[in-house]
Amino acid sequence: MSYIKGIGCGLLLALASYIYIRSRRRPDSRKNMKVMVSMEEFKGHPRLPKFAVPKRYDIRLKPNLTTCKFVGSVAIELKIVADTSFIVLNAAELSIDTTSVSFTYPAAHSSNSKQQVLKPLKVDVIEEDEILVLNFADTLPIGLGLLTILFQGSLNDKMRGFYISTYEHNGEKKNMAITQFKPDDARRCFPCWDEPACKATFKITLDVPSELVALSNMPIIEEKVVGDLKTVSYQESPIMSTYLVAIVVGLFDYVEHLTSDGVKVRVYCQVGKVNQGKFALDVAVRTLELYKEYFAMPYSLPKLEMVAIPDFSFGSMENYGLVTYHETTLLYDVQHSTAADKQRVVIVVAHELAHQWFGNLVTMEWWTHLWLNEGFATWVSYLAADCLFPQWRVWTQFLDDYTEGLGMDGLRVSHPIEVKINQASEIDEIIDSISYIKGASVIRMLQSYLGAACFQSSLASYVKKFAWSNAKTKDLWAALEEGSGEPVNKLMNSWTKQKGYPVVSVKVNDKKLVFEQSRFLASGSHGDGQWIVPITLCCGSYDVRKNFLLQTNPETLDMKELMSEESNLASAWVKLNVDQTGFYRVEYDEDLEARLRNAIENKYLSATDRFGILDDSFALCMARQKSFISFLALLNAYKKELEYTVLSNLIKISYKVDRITTDAAPGSSVDSFFIELFLHSAMKLGWEPKTGESHQDAMLRGEVLTALAVFGHNLTLKEASRRFYAFLEDRNTPLLHPDIRKAVYVAVMRRVSTSNRFGYESLLRVYRETNLRQEKARILSSLTSSPDPNITLEALNFLLSSEVRTQDAVLGLAVSREGRETAWSWLKNYWEHISKTWGSGYLITHFINSIVSPFASFEKAEEIQEFFASRTNSKIARTLKQSIERVHINAYWAQGFRIELQNHLARFSERNFVVLPQKSDAKIEMLEGYCIFVL
Ligand SMILES: [Zn+2]
Repeated sequence: MSYIKGIGCGLLLALASYIYIRSRRRPDSRKNMKVMVSMEEFKGHPRLPKFAVPKRYDIRLKPNLTTCKFVGSVAIELKIVADTSFIVLNAAELSIDTTSVSFTYPAAHSSNSKQQVLKPLKVDVIEEDEILVLNFADTLPIGLGLLTILFQGSLNDKMRGFYISTYEHNGEKKNMAITQFKPDDARRCFPCWDEPACKATFKITLDVPSELVALSNMPIIEEKVVGDLKTVSYQESPIMSTYLVAIVVGLFDYVEHLTSDGVKVRVYCQVGKVNQGKFALDVAVRTLELYKEYFAMPYSLPKLEMVAIPDFSFGSMENYGLVTYHETTLLYDVQHSTAADKQRVVIVVAHELAHQWFGNLVTMEWWTHLWLNEGFATWVSYLAADCLFPQWRVWTQFLDDYTEGLGMDGLRVSHPIEVKINQASEIDEIIDSISYIKGASVIRMLQSYLGAACFQSSLASYVKKFAWSNAKTKDLWAALEEGSGEPVNKLMNSWTKQKGYPVVSVKVNDKKLVFEQSRFLASGSHGDGQWIVPITLCCGSYDVRKNFLLQTNPETLDMKELMSEESNLASAWVKLNVDQTGFYRVEYDEDLEARLRNAIENKYLSATDRFGILDDSFALCMARQKSFISFLALLNAYKKELEYTVLSNLIKISYKVDRITTDAAPGSSVDSFFIELFLHSAMKLGWEPKTGESHQDAMLRGEVLTALAVFGHNLTLKEASRRFYAFLEDRNTPLLHPDIRKAVYVAVMRRVSTSNRFGYESLLRVYRETNLRQEKARILSSLTSSPDPNITLEALNFLLSSEVRTQDAVLGLAVSREGRETAWSWLKNYWEHISKTWGSGYLITHFINSIVSPFASFEKAEEIQEFFASRTNSKIARTLKQSIERVHINAYWAQGFRIELQNHLARFSERNFVVLPQKSDAKIEMLEGYCIFVL
């Protein structure tokens, strides 16, 4: 109660200083607005009624980090724009002091000092709609007024709204309080109009323990210490959306630097970790300067603070001027982080800073346009990383994400990028590869089609036009259409408003190339859809290039247009989707594929194009549009491959092929085929970093060694053990560079069994010892790699223990091929607990996707469906459908593979190549693209 009293005083001060600006009545807006008479009428609507518009919030909060409660007050200047006796705003999980609610407005025909205060007849909290309905006796006067409310709430442990995160300081466990509002959780901290288009200014005041750091969106203007408490006041913000408001209260150290414009940039992290913040600080300063040029507009706030939060369900969050991050995406330790960790910091920081313009300054009108926000920030983060670290060639690595987007959008249960969102709570399910990656990919495709300079200048005019307001997707297309003279709206609608993407088939017919498009479905079935496809192609050389829009089916191109020498027409390679800038797949006829295979072997093609051919072929193989044997024949062209992007994809493909072949023909193995495929690069890379080696080689070393460990390469397993023992003796041994640690941990776990637990227990010891989150993450993602299902079960149970932070548990869900059944039983046994702990956010989807998707039988699909029949809810419905579809796709693929294998075996047996084995005792080896059974 005393807290409420204290806050009440603050509110009175705020009221006293409130100055009205009289506004004129607006009869026009009144005419159009329906007068609602009953409180019931506000129930069940996804959006708030628009008869009151917030202009300015004066918020005061007093969090108690010991009791995990907070008390608060809000004074909202708003404008009544239509006749109503109601004020309806959002509030959730707050205890409203109903007697405190009042609406103050200037009395008509009186001086400024005269005010009328109205108390509502009724204050109703409608929990299911998360709204607060205030019913007044009379119609409220059109114009400005001030709504004041006192309230209380709890600092939760769900990583949303206003919540508690824990950390250790001098061996003592402590709490910090932070906010995470996107998309619709500001209402859990203070009553507000919690919609992105309801922009207002925010004046924030915090009462916090005096020894703590208290941060908000704007710089501090005053700090008053009284005893153990201090009152911190912040400068009023420019107008912004509620989901971007942020508060952080805890014990922190910081590093700081100024941009050339004098913007103060700080990185805050736990005490003792300040050195780990320096890299991100440097990246942030350089990125702000870069974006100022790119968007032709300076950063709009006087400061930028970035904070590492120990418990954070997302990777990061773009709160205006106070960006929050999961520790792994902000902190970089020179001694213990990997090259991949470093790149992740750059990409994530660049992503969040892009939002300061694209998202915060220009905000989406409604969540339907979330994809534009996220797709754009994802795309531009690579652009920034490429400018800051050109030697990393990050665009080649963008393909890693790109293929994930293609994978998800190839499912029947996909969704258009631009998806109609009714309630903000539906957003969790579209925080996925479609919104982020497909979004970024179609923007990349458009930029590549329009040209970089035209794209940038049109974008700058868009930002200028919509700064401090809201925009829809079509507003961006209009700006680009105006800048380029191209039919951007028509072109892009075919990519954003329908789900899926096309596969463009190309064949040679009488020296002409014939193109056709149809929707690609990973299941191999036919789908509807027609796209305007920006085709790019090269023929025989990267200097011979042709671009056009594929709109009709079929379309032809005379090869003589491209090549003057008749002799080359029959042999020149033809590569579509040059550099993989288009979001579509390509299917070549046999002749063109053979030419490309030759071009790959002879290194005529760029890494991105080698990646594209591999990725498309694999997808077509999985969709049973291409035989497994011909896919293996293609793989042979990649035997000398050394490029990170291509090999990294090849490794992912190898894991899938391994799983499916094992399912299709139990007892079979493709291990030696893939070991042979990866040994070439492993030998070149070695175990130690080489002076002057590239960033990609540093990343590749770990991935290739991990693959060799997974496929059981004996020498790799032995060498990994040797290095691990050295590391256990001395944590600073040069034998275990961070880049190879994950590989070594996986190798160690591959040798762990119930009777040989040493490796597992040693890894747990290292996990408990380290305070570096990236190291903890590496260990968690290795623990479930053992071939012994009992150990896998133990590791899965460890994920549920208090030693693993809630959001980190999902890191250990990718279990070994041998542990799949164990993981499924475990998921069923603990579903109630899992659903309760992770079910309120998007993290729950990881449990289903990681554990369910790898299966490959129709019986299993049925079993999964049965189990979830009574357990589905809106948070998991889409993920569940997608995962089951994946199981079906795997099952069909395994079935097709089995048939192909039988036919092949029959042929081999006819030719007496090998003796036909006795079923499951067989070991399959894939050599030179052929299956050879070894007894
Ligand atoms: Zn984002």
